[in-house]
Amino acid sequence: MNKTRAWHLKSRPTGMPHIGNFELMESDLPPLEDGMVRVRNAWLSVDPYMRGRMNDVKSYVPPFQVGAPLQGGAVGKVVESRAPDLQPGDTVFHMLGWREEAVAPAGAFNKVPAMGVGDEQWLGNLGLTGATAYFGLLRTADAKGGDVVFVSAAAGAVGSAVVQIAKVKGMTVIGSAGGPEKCAWVKELGADAAVDYKAGPLVKALQAAAPKGIDVYFDNVGGDHLDAAFATARNNARFAICGMIDSYNGGEPASFRYIMRVISARISIKGFIYTDYMSEMSQFYAEMGGWIAAGQVKSRETVRAGLEATPQAFLDLFTGGNTGKMLVKL
Ligand code: NAP
Repeated sequence: MNKTRAWHLKSRPTGMPHIGNFELMESDLPPLEDGMVRVRNAWLSVDPYMRGRMNDVKSYVPPFQVGAPLQGGAVGKVVESRAPDLQPGDTVFHMLGWREEAVAPAGAFNKVPAMGVGDEQWLGNLGLTGATAYFGLLRTADAKGGDVVFVSAAAGAVGSAVVQIAKVKGMTVIGSAGGPEKCAWVKELGADAAVDYKAGPLVKALQAAAPKGIDVYFDNVGGDHLDAAFATARNNARFAICGMIDSYNGGEPASFRYIMRVISARISIKGFIYTDYMSEMSQFYAEMGGWIAAGQVKSRETVRAGLEATPQAFLDLFTGGNTGKMLVKL
């Protein structure tokens, strides 16, 4: 019987995870029963939300189980099929990442539409990353041309998509990122200003970049970034809360000096999960596909090589080791 390898959760992390929380295991490939498909993965996604699934708590996705393989976005090719709708050679997107090969009922795999883009795009701007940016900005925050938008983690996967979508739609964009090189890239993407949050007090820097205030805040970080957005919001500002990576590993709880501005500035704050908008995916594919084809939305990936690199790629998300989308290429 053929062997295959997958990363398992060895123990639940406390605080910042470490490499010892993960274990690379080899097992027999299960036999392919009727209706099932075997896929060899080519690209694996690592994402900050996976940290939440490592805790044994109820959330919008079930927790990972200790001793079981981890899961996540992946793109691969069908190598064997006992299902009529998928044939060897088909490229598919699915959620059985962190492993070399995925064996599952055909319904677990989505054949990627022929759009003439690199396979890795289905984990980036055409995948959940791009959909999160698109729906969070345009639906949750209801951002419109003319708005001043602030987006945190702007040199990351979701943030860099938000910057570009906002520019296509005629908004003024301020992005924050850690360090001068990332900020330079955020500007290259079209942002009107980039704020290096590691260089000094964020409130001051944001208010200098947006002297008349912000209409929209797209939050990927929480903590001091959210507080700076409270401090800088114009009346009736809308905040789309996408993520709060600053809190995922615990640590000191954030203190909000400016939270009372929610009242005086009549700020609306709404959290969202990209799956809230699944019924609108065809519109997302049409618009995002068009922007990519026209060169209005560009992609950048930080690519780590080989299955062995997966946990470190994941850990490096929390120290800013990626610019654009963090991926593992098998
Ligand atoms: P990402 O931004 O590509 O990677 C994480 C980045 O966050 C790092 O590169 C780092 O950039 C920054 N960062 C890490 N720790 C930080 C801290 N303590 N303070 C400030 N910045 C920090 O990851 P992503 O996949 O695009 O995800 C971005 C956010 O969206 C995450 O919060 C994620 O959980 C959320 N998300 C939500 C949904 C949803 O449906 N709601 C879906 C996908 C993602 P710097 O070097 O600039 O610090």
